[in-house]
Amino acid sequence: MSKRRRASHQLPATPPAPATVAAREGKIRISTISLCGCWGCTLSILDMDERIVPLLDRVTIVRSSLTDLKRITGRCAVGFVEGGVANEENIETLEHFRTHCDVLISVGACALWGGIPSLRNSVGLGACLAEAYLESPTAVAGARPTIPLHPEIPRLTAKVHPCHEVVHMDYFIPGCPPDGDAVFAVLDDLAHGRPVDLPRSLTRFD
Ligand code: SF4
Repeated sequence: MSKRRRASHQLPATPPAPATVAAREGKIRISTISLCGCWGCTLSILDMDERIVPLLDRVTIVRSSLTDLKRITGRCAVGFVEGGVANEENIETLEHFRTHCDVLISVGACALWGGIPSLRNSVGLGACLAEAYLESPTAVAGARPTIPLHPEIPRLTAKVHPCHEVVHMDYFIPGCPPDGDAVFAVLDDLAHGRPVDLPRSLTRFD
């Protein structure tokens, strides 16, 4: 019996994912993105620290906070997603990731269930915007309080959504943020062609 117990949030066993097959055949391409989050989960990805160096024999980092590419070119085996979906640009970016990544992983509370940004769901978008731009003490002190509206500013969605409400997500790494060890465990499994088996000891929800 495996020393590592399968975490309850994992999807049931399925046929080998394309990423798993790719890993068995050699190097895999991975990407990361931050949607509506605070970049804390992205820092957890960086918290793999020097362990990422030997993994580079098996992993090519395509789009990330290190490369700052805006779009994925070609296909990626794995996409890590931080943050929930709070505006139309987030939707477009997440759908782009879904189209270009074989395996998509929600990283952190914001991606899993909306996190802190989703607190606005309880009062409604209109009330939030009014409080922020029209009724706050600093807004009242301004000459003409107004809600910003410009084609360059992504339109906010009525509610903040977890990623899986927008596209299919394959795996979930909970936590705010998850431990860098958890991100490494998942990436190490995928890079070596093993089924993802996040240890219970690395599964946290705080
Ligand atoms: Fe930041 Fe926590 Fe959201 Fe991660 S889950 S992006 S650390 S608020």
